Amino acid sequence: MVMLLGAVLGLVIGSFLNVVVWRVPRGESVAHPPSACPRCGHRVRARDNVPVLSWLLLRGRCRDCSAPIGARYPAVEAGTAVAFALVGWWLGWSWALPAFWYLVAVSVALTLIDLDVRRLPDVIVLPSWVVGVLLLTVASWDSGQSSDWGALGRALIAAVVMGASYLLILLVYPAGMGLGDVKLAVLLGLYLGWIGWSALVVGWFAGFLLGGIVGVVLLLTRRAGRSTQLPFGPWMLAGCWIGLVVGPTVAAGYLELVGL
Ligand SMILES: [Zn+2]
Repeated sequence: MVMLLGAVLGLVIGSFLNVVVWRVPRGESVAHPPSACPRCGHRVRARDNVPVLSWLLLRGRCRDCSAPIGARYPAVEAGTAVAFALVGWWLGWSWALPAFWYLVAVSVALTLIDLDVRRLPDVIVLPSWVVGVLLLTVASWDSGQSSDWGALGRALIAAVVMGASYLLILLVYPAGMGLGDVKLAVLLGLYLGWIGWSALVVGWFAGFLLGGIVGVVLLLTRRAGRSTQLPFGPWMLAGCWIGLVVGPTVAAGYLELVGL
């Protein structure tokens, strides 16, 4: 049931994220005006605004002028639905669901915007610090039998630690990342710390590992030169999710391996 709820919610949120990804980098409001075809300007009718299904029924074209509608729109909706369902499966019925569903939405939006325009907009990242703290407070209020304020305290410390570590790297090696990455690191540290210290360590390393691997592959396949600015946000986010979901398991396995 929680997976089904996640999938339906994910479809609707994914549809909204398409609007966010298109409008936020252009400095436009996500609430107004209603969606319209960029070519003929006709408003998108309610029946043509059903996630995934409408795109399939319209065969990827505007009803009025037949302008092609990118396959990315239904892909984002379907992908968000799958991610929401998986988080539902991971957490089960929990007060932590809103917090982590919110992080999924932010992850999808920031990944696409960073790939599109190489930016992590403050209007998404900075309010997310506040929303993250509020939703994780709700999550801590009832985690299992009793409230877990220790997790919330750990989250706040981890946010500072992760942000500070990225700021340090930015100061030592300014070409490697931007201030947007530092601000995102604060948000990711918050969530990783809430899960645990092991999640923080694994998530921190996984981000650099993924970013490094992708950078080397792009260099070797000559898709990028030494001076190409690669977006780092998507790999930080992917690394964070690895840390959140498998961090505690990986850390336990590692400690066992080294005989601790
Ligand atoms: Zn049109």
